Amino acid sequence: MTVKNKVVVITGASSGIGEATAKLLAKNGAKVVLGARRKDRLEKLVADIKADGGQAAYQTVDVRDAEQVAALVAYAKTTFGGVDVIFNNAGIMPTSPISALHTQEWNDMVDINIKGVLNGVAAVMPDFVANKSGHIITTSSVAGLKSFPGSGVYGATKFAVRNLMEVIRTESASEGTNIRTTTLYPAAINTELLNTISDKAARKGMDALYDAVGINPDAIARVVNFAIDQPEDVNVNEFTIYPTKQA
Ligand code: NDP
Repeated sequence: MTVKNKVVVITGASSGIGEATAKLLAKNGAKVVLGARRKDRLEKLVADIKADGGQAAYQTVDVRDAEQVAALVAYAKTTFGGVDVIFNNAGIMPTSPISALHTQEWNDMVDINIKGVLNGVAAVMPDFVANKSGHIITTSSVAGLKSFPGSGVYGATKFAVRNLMEVIRTESASEGTNIRTTTLYPAAINTELLNTISDKAARKGMDALYDAVGINPDAIARVVNFAIDQPEDVNVNEFTIYPTKQA
């Protein structure tokens, strides 16, 4: 099981971690199928990958909609003949104190960060079970391991997918379906994620942290590449990735 020739579906591929991962995996011979809402960004990324000799395709998707996520996976199958890996990476991080009651943002995070991942899992599970093979990779966060002020709901969504992924791993092992699961716990990675924060004080604090310590999303791309590259009987199931300077 190496990256070369693997068909990898990536959600949240229009920027940040998803974009960096798409570029690296394609460079190493994967066939990447990219999903997000911003068509112009996906179009340009696919053109750039192809210009570098890689194989890529895209379809716009809102991960909140199960049918759209299923259609993305179906598109990957018709374009490249199957799906080996899904990277459930799309997410938003509108952090704020619970007392500020940004309840619409709470709902948005549940819908995108949890239900979006569930929709990805549901879209690939029938084939992965039938084939007794497949790899589900999901971006949680260090906020899925520890509780931080401002991360009440964001962290809750990331703790939720952590639990989901570990249960898929244990069920797959006991059911003999050989599905590999890799959960990522990144800390401060310089992407467009902070633009999803509407709370001014929360944004100011995050800007200061990321300006001081944030690292390039290529760091996460390399980890995803490593996880896929392992032999079929090896499941590297968790990675925590901090900037060296982040306390
Ligand atoms: P970006 O904002 O750069 O990327 C987020 C991606 O998610 C974009 O491609 C965006 O595309 C997509 N997205 C958001 N909402 C939806 C939706 N409803 N449907 C489809 N796609 C959607 O941030 P990152 O790269 O940092 O974020 C990627 C993941 O990493 C997220 O899950 C985030 O929580 C996680 N993470 C990031 C950390 C960081 O420090 N950057 C730390 C820990 C975890 P579009 O808007 O075009 O739909």
